[in-house]
Order: sequence, then structure tokens, then C-alpha cells
Amino acid sequence: MITEAVQLMLPLGHTLTTDQRTDLTRLASGLQADRAACRDGNPDDWHPDPDDPDSAAKAARAARTCAGCPVARACLSAALVADEQGIWGGTTEGQRADLLDLIGTGVRVEAVLSIATDRPRLAA
Ligand code: SF4
Repeated sequence: MITEAVQLMLPLGHTLTTDQRTDLTRLASGLQADRAACRDGNPDDWHPDPDDPDSAAKAARAARTCAGCPVARACLSAALVADEQGIWGGTTEGQRADLLDLIGTGVRVEAVLSIATDRPRLAA
């Protein structure tokens, strides 16, 4: 039985049900900038230029900061909903595409967020 007839297409081409989008939006609403571990960090670390030879090191440094961030789940939720660029919740854009694929298979949003934020997503 189809319980959710309405689906929304994200910019990346991933499809979320209305309920999944609602869950992500609700979780994203908990993002409090004043609690973010990156609030005093160098923004370049979270938006590394791929042409920068230090981009991998910068991304890894950002991911280590994200790993200890108290609002990582909300941050990741916001990035998934809004198709953000750069590193959010310790994940790269490619990793978030994989997470959206996983959500698209029907795995619960909160379970996917746990998988993604319970450990650093990027290699150090
Ligand atoms: S998870 Fe990372 S990018 Fe998101 S608020 Fe925390 S430190 Fe900043």
C-alpha cells in the first residue's frame, strides 16, 4: 500500500517523501549557531577549494571539529534539506548524496543521521 503519494525532488536528484523532508526540517530547526563548534573556526576549512593542495587536510580538520559538535545532527539535517555545499555535520557533499540514497531506500531519517554523526565521516 502506498502511504505517501507526494514526493519531493531535491536539487541533487534524490527523492524524499513528505514525511522524510518533514523529519529533516524538524531536526534542522535545532541548529543553534551559538553552540556550533565551528563558530570560531576558519571558514575555508569547511569550504575547501579543490584546487588547493591543502584541501584534504583542511576538510579533515573541519571533520574533526564536527565530530565533537553538539549540534552536528541538526547541522547535517539542514545540509540535507537545503543541498548545502561544503562540509556540514562532518560530511562532504558526496557523503550526503550517499545518505540521501540511503534515506531513499526507506531507512529512517534518524537512523541515517546516527550512522553519519556517531563517528567522523572523513578520513583524518
Ligand atoms: S557539525 Fe560541523 S559544520 Fe555543523 S555546526 Fe558543527 S562544527 Fe559547524
